[in-house]
Amino acid sequence: MAADERFASLPAGAAADLAGEPLPQSFDVWLAGLPDSLLEVMARLAEAGAGVWVVGGSVRDACAGLTAHDHDLATTMRPDQMLALFPRALPTGVRFGTVSLRLEEGNEQYEATTLRTDLEYRDGRRPEEVDFGDSLAQDLRRRDFTVNAMAVDLARQHLHDPFGGQEDLEAGCLRAVGDARERLSEDGLRIMRAYRFMDRGDAGLWQPDEALASALVECQRMLTLVSSERIWHELQLILSGANAAAILDRLGVDGVLGLLLPEWTCDVDLQHRCSATGSEAVAARLALLASATDRGRVESALRDLTAPRKMLDAVQELRRRLGTLPQATSSAQLRLYRVALGARLEQQLHCEASLDADATAAVREALTSLPANQAGDLPLMDGNRLFESTGLEPGERLGRLKAWLHRIQIEQDLATVADVESALADLDWQDGPSDDWPRVSWP
Ligand code: ATP
Ligand code: MG
Repeated sequence: MAADERFASLPAGAAADLAGEPLPQSFDVWLAGLPDSLLEVMARLAEAGAGVWVVGGSVRDACAGLTAHDHDLATTMRPDQMLALFPRALPTGVRFGTVSLRLEEGNEQYEATTLRTDLEYRDGRRPEEVDFGDSLAQDLRRRDFTVNAMAVDLARQHLHDPFGGQEDLEAGCLRAVGDARERLSEDGLRIMRAYRFMDRGDAGLWQPDEALASALVECQRMLTLVSSERIWHELQLILSGANAAAILDRLGVDGVLGLLLPEWTCDVDLQHRCSATGSEAVAARLALLASATDRGRVESALRDLTAPRKMLDAVQELRRRLGTLPQATSSAQLRLYRVALGARLEQQLHCEASLDADATAAVREALTSLPANQAGDLPLMDGNRLFESTGLEPGERLGRLKAWLHRIQIEQDLATVADVESALADLDWQDGPSDDWPRVSWP
């Protein structure tokens, strides 16, 4: 079916209480990419008499001439009615009007939120109460930024853009809906969202307008009222953004970085040379930010942010190894480095490139031409065999000797157990404590 036919057959639900304009031509790519399941969900709401609009990030993508992969809906229908109309719907945040709608078949789900007015903000994060209503105009007014306060009526092919979101989007301007200070004071999470939205990926950076720029500095204390989980979530998105370095610069200059990572001595300049992208970038960028801060402070700030243990360990490992590249001319060092770092190798190199791009490039090249270890990366010598050869009972000392031999195997690229046996013959393992025997580790 041609794109426009799909929309011509969509039932029109309740109309908006504000004027709309015809959808601009630039929306065609987005329209053609809308999944049938979304249209079906919207049709079902409209057939039941509700008004229904696409809102949020999806409309931002539409304005930018992109297809969207995530769609938020706004509707006049109340949450309990949505739950009754869609048996597989999930009550995601019913108190605030949000239900995740799913059809009988398929895995797609769409977050639909009942039109609302937020009554009173007392805790600096969530309104005390929300009033469900039928006014799209009021619902758009409670949204954070002009580019996020647009709605699309698909059946009528209308765009509702009461605050000039399209124009701001074209100009690359991030502007609060209404008074910036007021809006950030209602909900401190908007501060984090503002920095996140400034990073437009390949399209570069959005600049906050003057009012928002100063409100970000003046209202930053509001962040202390926001839950750590939400801050952590936004911070990860910022760190994995294509222009993370520029955003971190701004966070630093505005003084927000100091609130997020208290007591860290952050050198943001390093960030501009960090080549990590996507989810890999979160630990790598944090490790670079943590490079001049002691382990304990790094630990406590990340723990306060509710970063998971795995993330904490990754950051500490990367940070501990910073500035300890192997020599590019030493195959033994390169082999040991490769095995000791394992899955963290790439991430570490992204960090090292920020400190010394040339040395890192040389190591990278040497690693590319380094053949795989002849006997793989695991120890050739097992505990039983080592017990037979040495008479050492299973325990700490035997374990340390096995680890020592493993290191020699990797450094020398030994191929057989017999090679390891002969290396053993050269070791002085009979006497002295075993605590400081070498093992596979870096540095
Ligand atoms: P994305 O989904 O790409 O991260 P989004 O803008 O869709 O971006 P969501 O968190 O999905 O963000 O929220 C959907 C919409 O809800 C936003 O576009 C905005 O209009 C509104 N919104 C979300 N969080 C807030 C908030 N803290 N304050 C005001 N409005 C908000
Ligand atoms: Mg969204």
